[in-house]
Amino acid sequence: MGRIQVLDDQLVNRIAAGEVVERPASVVKELLENSLDASARRIEITVGSGGRQLIRVADDGEGMDRDDALLALERHATSKLGSGRDLEGIATLGFRGEALPSIAAVSRFLLRTAPGDGRGTEIDVRGGRIQAVREIGAPRGTSVEAASLFFNVPARRKFLKSQATELAHITRLVTRYALVRPDLRLRLDHDGKNLVDLPVASDRGERIEQIHGPEFRRKVLPFEATRDGLALRGFAGRPVDTSPRRDAQHLFVNGRLVQDRVLAHAITEAYGNTVPRDRFPAVFLFVEIDPRQVDVNVHPQKNEVRFARAGEVHDAVRDALAGALAHEAAVPTYGQLRPSWEGTAPVARAALRYLEVREGAAEPSRVPVAPASLLEGAEGEAAERPRAVPLAQYRDSYIIAQDDEGLLLVDQHAAHERVLFERYLAAAEENRVEVQRLLFPVTLDLPPHERVVLEEEAAELARLGFCVDPFGGSSVRIDGVPALASDLDPGGLLRELLGEAARTRAAAAGIEQLRRRLVTTAACQAAIKIHHPLNAESMQGLLDDLFRASNPTTCPHGRPVLFRFTLEEIERTFRRR
Ligand code: ADP
Ligand code: MG
Repeated sequence: MGRIQVLDDQLVNRIAAGEVVERPASVVKELLENSLDASARRIEITVGSGGRQLIRVADDGEGMDRDDALLALERHATSKLGSGRDLEGIATLGFRGEALPSIAAVSRFLLRTAPGDGRGTEIDVRGGRIQAVREIGAPRGTSVEAASLFFNVPARRKFLKSQATELAHITRLVTRYALVRPDLRLRLDHDGKNLVDLPVASDRGERIEQIHGPEFRRKVLPFEATRDGLALRGFAGRPVDTSPRRDAQHLFVNGRLVQDRVLAHAITEAYGNTVPRDRFPAVFLFVEIDPRQVDVNVHPQKNEVRFARAGEVHDAVRDALAGALAHEAAVPTYGQLRPSWEGTAPVARAALRYLEVREGAAEPSRVPVAPASLLEGAEGEAAERPRAVPLAQYRDSYIIAQDDEGLLLVDQHAAHERVLFERYLAAAEENRVEVQRLLFPVTLDLPPHERVVLEEEAAELARLGFCVDPFGGSSVRIDGVPALASDLDPGGLLRELLGEAARTRAAAAGIEQLRRRLVTTAACQAAIKIHHPLNAESMQGLLDDLFRASNPTTCPHGRPVLFRFTLEEIERTFRRR
């Protein structure tokens, strides 16, 4: 007697719903994608009680006739994959024919649709069973309503988060789709209140402004790049504007919202050491790629993709972003640096800061300090005129300077760190780090775990200018250190780097990342500290070096280096404007 049976359709649909319909936002996503695939220009989304009570998506797209409407509710029924064709080269957002039957299986479901010939169809489904099919009069378009989500799946219903959380997911999803398609009119209402109402925008920049405001738009840097079969467009947030969460990054592949490790990694690389480790710059990335070069059928909710040539896509994205950031040597203004959640009294704040600065501005100190022994290859003389001129040093820590656009306040440690970091890294990459031989070699006892790291990373440490030899037992001998660190305690520095190397490798980092981390650590140690008097000449030297750096705005840990009070800000503060 066979024990194995074929499951009936309703059960199968509920099982599929378990994967496809995770939460109310997944319903919104599937319905929204269907509307987009139907070439809708206008989409209205209505949600009740965070989506538990009601989700309705109405569009003005192609609509369906009665036969298609009935078929659409069948499992694996789709208009998007014809017979004979296969899964390669999918240009639509949907393709599996799973969403409608899955949603209908776990809700009180109402489909109203009309192809534009005046003859509409309404289908009433409850928990996957068709209750009624009616003919209605309706204009072209489709409205799909899923009420009482998971009413027949109590386990899933229990796992829904608070209304506010579910609503936040829905809102984020809707605004993200709004970004990819500025030509859409899009509206979202919740419990009778309007949350999103976006008219058609002329382009994505304008869309970003509609959603995030004009100030935000001014801060992001547009980029665009094409390579064969690949077009990249988007906006890169400045390194000084980061958020603790990755969801500031919006990734789209052929109009599909995705999470993707390859793209995320490329972004991380492009920003390199300009942002702190656990913070994320805002990025809007729109990838257009030949559909045959990307597999979209890898995730139940179609949130992930696989690129046929992932390496190429990765490098193209990294280079496009890095290009946008390189052009961005713009110094942030005080207003831009100030985190936006700090309230909105920039004028008063700027005024206070400015006074503080003025009062603290003592006579430039007379103690001369040459910023450490820089590596060889310090570039030739600066252009005729320095980009910024120091006025004074505040509290032996901050350089007050002026340039054509305003008054600068520079963190001397962060600035020097940035300068040393870039030079040291460039020298290491070209294998030309200047080594300072020690007159008196230093011997150092290392515990076994540090010796292991030393042996494993010997080549990289040598490249970075460390001459280290075993010296019997647990001892090693240091004969030479990188010249930029010649003032530091060689043993202390080496152990610091070994610790950093162990942590970096533990995070499965490759050699480039390791090098950057080690260079960051060494630069931090070697850079002049705060509470350190500088004379005018050293300050000028440091500013010149800083403005020659490829990214003067943040230190290698990602903290800000300097900001500017623009003349305009100053004049506004004094009500001269
Ligand atoms: P898929 O999107 O993978 O094809 P769905 O279950 O989401 O599967 O939808 C099944 C079919 O129903 C679609 O292929 C499409 O033909 C039709 N359909 C769904 N939603 C709409 C809509 N809003 N407007 C027009 N047709 C739709
Ligand atoms: Mg679909």
